[in-house]
Amino acid sequence: MTEHKVTTDIAKAVEVLSSGGIVGMPTETVYGLAAFALDENAVARVFAAKGRPTNHPLIVHLSPDADASQWGEFTNEARALADAFWPGPLTLLVRRTSLVPDWVTGGRDTVALRVPSHPMAIELLRAVNTGLVAPSANKFGKVSPTTAAHVMDDLGDDVDLVLDGGACAVGVESTIVECLPDSVSVLRPGTITSDQIELVLQAVVGSSSGEARAPGMLLSHYSPDADVFLVETLEEGIQKKQELTKNGRSVHFIHFDDIDEYARHLYDELRHADLSKCDSIVAVMPVTSGVGLAIRDRLMKAATR
Ligand code: AMP
Ligand code: MG
Repeated sequence: MTEHKVTTDIAKAVEVLSSGGIVGMPTETVYGLAAFALDENAVARVFAAKGRPTNHPLIVHLSPDADASQWGEFTNEARALADAFWPGPLTLLVRRTSLVPDWVTGGRDTVALRVPSHPMAIELLRAVNTGLVAPSANKFGKVSPTTAAHVMDDLGDDVDLVLDGGACAVGVESTIVECLPDSVSVLRPGTITSDQIELVLQAVVGSSSGEARAPGMLLSHYSPDADVFLVETLEEGIQKKQELTKNGRSVHFIHFDDIDEYARHLYDELRHADLSKCDSIVAVMPVTSGVGLAIRDRLMKAATR
């Protein structure tokens, strides 16, 4: 078996990455598939392992000690957000510097940067002392991984190593905020909300989605094999489950009162449904505030075919 690939040995991960390898890396959001951002061949292996189109740009992960301005041009707003939320689940999209290669940005003139807060990710980033790309360590279009075992399930044959840092504390991908000289927009919701961002900036920020601004944010993403049915209340959920069961379908039911717990367990629940060969998932949507908005976004994408 390939279980020997799972380790907590950071020195080994540094060795693998330094020689052009690809490593599953825990972050507080989801597990990433890490490679040296400046190593074209290593990044090509990441795209190939995931089956991800190469025009979908990657986020560069940096250590808290790194000088992020070597990678991107920070506006005052970007600087303020980095100071407020890094290390943490916030990705800043800024103009790239000449250091950043086309194979990271898909040829765009912006780069996505993040300093994660997971202690093992920080230790790894400090040790390699360079930027790591780390898109979610799953096959393209499928559900993101939140444990080392999820990474092995999806990419066990393709990765060189997986660092096991336990279950991800947040559970959904980072908030992406685009900071350009004349505008600030939230491109992907996450645990850090627009309200928190507006509080720091003391200004109203826009929100926008779609392929043009953030390629790869496809409508059908985070998709389990089972059909996903979304309902707004527990009562509706129970009714839907009864109806489906009556029609001979096997149902996995998802409902959490606590939204942080919902975020932490969402992807494991979606994966669990597929593993247990359920053909349907009924998910009771969370409230429309805080991380609830990010969960709703991912569930809607999971429900789209
Ligand atoms: P992830 O799959 O969590 O690694 O997030 C990567 C996503 O960030 C991409 O699919 C894009 O939506 C967005 N992104 C990263 N870099 C850029 C960029 N240079 N320009 C626009 N969007 C980007
Ligand atoms: Mg992903």
